[in-house]
Amino acid sequence: MRVVVTGAAGFIGSHLAQALAAAGRDVLAVDSRKRGASTANIAELARAGLTIIDRDLVTDDLADLADVDIVLHLAGRPGVRTSFGAGAADTHRDNVVATERLVAACAATRPRFVFASSSSVYGDADRPCDEDDRIDPRSPYARSKSDAETLVRGSGLPAVVLRYFSVYGPRQRPDMAFHRFIEAALDGSPAPLYGDGGQSRSFTFVGDVVGATIRAASVPVPPGTIINVGHPVTVRVRDALDRIGTLLGAPPPTVTKDRAPGDVTRTWAGTARASHLLGWNATTGLDDGLAQQIAWHRRRRRG
Ligand code: NAD
Repeated sequence: MRVVVTGAAGFIGSHLAQALAAAGRDVLAVDSRKRGASTANIAELARAGLTIIDRDLVTDDLADLADVDIVLHLAGRPGVRTSFGAGAADTHRDNVVATERLVAACAATRPRFVFASSSSVYGDADRPCDEDDRIDPRSPYARSKSDAETLVRGSGLPAVVLRYFSVYGPRQRPDMAFHRFIEAALDGSPAPLYGDGGQSRSFTFVGDVVGATIRAASVPVPPGTIINVGHPVTVRVRDALDRIGTLLGAPPPTVTKDRAPGDVTRTWAGTARASHLLGWNATTGLDDGLAQQIAWHRRRRRG
């Protein structure tokens, strides 16, 4: 069983590639060093016996990557805030053009194709979002993900679209809130808190996300099925901040900033479809997941 993981040097992709390798899969770990790949994650992969295949999905030849059983497409440019203004072109490039080229490369070989989309396509939630709900993308990032969903679903490939909800845990990206809060608490320099921290999210632990993605690669579902991958319980950012403070014994210092454009008040995962089709539910609670992330930050600081 040969599996391509794109974005394998990233936060979620590196965990996914490692889990697949540990399960005995033949993993092709693909990433572009020019597009924000993490050297620390590449070192972790090397320890697991995986070498990054350095490939930019937008410019490089992809034909050999398609000759596999499964493609797990996580490469992309994440981040709502950075997708406005000057970031819009790169967001489109790495999320839409990259997906278009990868899908085209797979047309002849037709591997099972799993695409990492995002809860941001829903806009603001006042109840758990179902996959059939009308979408409301409010940032160039959210639009790029919904455009890429359309490409993947229209490709005729045996494809599954996963909508990940705010993922956290060891190796979380440095631009993400929990990473910043934990680092702020550990070294005393304040992290930005956007607005009053009243925004809530279906925060989802990376180990759970990896589990859902591996299930989606193997469980038979109709082509083009969209599945939310999120924790059913929403948590306010300021409550998560308090939890981090309690776990570390010191509240993270913060500096208040204006709410960022595109920053929705609430994301909320409806989880019935993931449970029904994948037999998957997020099981890691916030305290447990945060404790694992904090342990990683501490290990990283010790070198
Ligand atoms: P990440 O930035 O850590 O990983 C993405 C990886 O993709 C990076 O290593 C980068 O080098 C690579 N990449 C970007 N453009 C590329 C290109 N053109 N060719 C080859 N490689 C390229 O991001 P992450 O947080 O691990 O997210 C993984 C995926 O999941 C992304 O598609 C993201 O949009 C999606 N997602 C993430 C979250 C989250 O909370 N982290 C939530 C929803 C969706």
